[in-house]
Amino acid sequence: MPPSALVIDDDVDIQLLGKMLLSRHGFDVATAGCLGELARKPALLNTNLIVLDFGLGDFTGLDILDYLYDLKMNAPILLLSSCSDETAAHAIAEGKSKGLKMLGFLPKAKLMTGLSAFIEQIESSPKPPSVGELAQAIKQQHICLALQPKVSLATGAVVGAEALVRWEDPTRGTIYPDNFIPLAERSGLMVPLTWCILELSFAQLAAWHARGLPLSIAINVPAEFIKAEKMLSMFDTLCSQYPIDMTNVTLELTESVGVECLGYARHVLDELRKRGCKLALDDFGTGYSSLTQLYRLPFDELKIDRSFVSLIDSEPSAQAITLSIVELGARLGMSVVAEGIESAEQQALLAKAHCPIGQGYFISRPLSSVQFDGWLDHQMTIAKRAYSTPTILLAKYFQRYPE
Ligand code: C2E
Ligand code: MG
Ligand code: MG
Repeated sequence: MPPSALVIDDDVDIQLLGKMLLSRHGFDVATAGCLGELARKPALLNTNLIVLDFGLGDFTGLDILDYLYDLKMNAPILLLSSCSDETAAHAIAEGKSKGLKMLGFLPKAKLMTGLSAFIEQIESSPKPPSVGELAQAIKQQHICLALQPKVSLATGAVVGAEALVRWEDPTRGTIYPDNFIPLAERSGLMVPLTWCILELSFAQLAAWHARGLPLSIAINVPAEFIKAEKMLSMFDTLCSQYPIDMTNVTLELTESVGVECLGYARHVLDELRKRGCKLALDDFGTGYSSLTQLYRLPFDELKIDRSFVSLIDSEPSAQAITLSIVELGARLGMSVVAEGIESAEQQALLAKAHCPIGQGYFISRPLSSVQFDGWLDHQMTIAKRAYSTPTILLAKYFQRYPE
């Protein structure tokens, strides 16, 4: 399949010129004149390259980058504008700081002569996955789980793991969620992908329980999945295939789910809780109206976003926010998980503040199922040695079992 490009410009002449030039380089080119058009046709954004005019009607360049960031765009972005080099450099730095792939800046006057250099840059970098490839990967069971341990911060005991999706592509190797979840979200593949993750997670839980390991599993669940047709009956069918106790399943929802979860979705969440599942509010503190979500939806667990946790030992404000969330969770009778613990100091501070559960690279990177078993055996050996300090040994283990 030829690579695709999207030219976003309100100037039809530039659209046509961009289309002609990119077609010559073998691109399949689509065009859009305004952001409204993109919102109406999200499939346009499943593209290998975005050529973006920096001023689009009522929007400023930074608004546009914010919009692409909200959509978790993965494709490289080439800015096209008549603005000064300084303004363009600022926009590129801003885009990069948000994690967007900023390819560079091309003044409109140089569109005819300057495009080739950028195309060469794209051609020499690895191709991002396409919707068709992801759909095939789901069918061919190339989707698998990485398990990141969750431990009690009071005792060091392993309480379970978060299931994190990975795509094991036979040619590209491991593809991480940031490189395909946005694609799945835009192309309607999130629901089949989540069924696949749920099934793998249930199988993992059943395997642990068969070995007498009292562990729980946390699964990331998007809003579309909660609202999908026949979700509850399909969920029951899947549960009936695995001998697992649903009280060991935690479904992690992000804050945006709450905003959308009215009416029917609320009913689904209540039904899932009736079946024993716990609900966690993931990445707490990063979205909007976080506090409203807490009383509108029946959450059992709060996961403090790692952007706070990772600064707890260096930024007084991050520490104040993190510790307040721990207290808030306790007052609401919820379990609290601090995610993204990267140092002994952070872990010690959280333990001192009575944060019940911790997760993060300091404890362990996400592990394959086999690595997880090895890690767990090692933890059990450590636990038997009364003289050992779990923190130090966990840190040594993390070095031995890199992802
Ligand atoms: P999340 O649910 O907040 O998952 C935690 C992410 O933080 C994971 O990244 C994990 O590897 C990373 N992490 C854990 N500890 C540390 C740490 O100490 N430092 C740092 N810097 N990072 C840490 P990952 O696996 O790349 O997943 C990224 C995001 O992709 C997840 O964030 C989640 O939003 C999404 N995701 C992952 N798996 C799934 C899935 O199965 N379904 C859905 N819907 N989303 C998923
Ligand atoms: Mg999560
Ligand atoms: Mg999270």
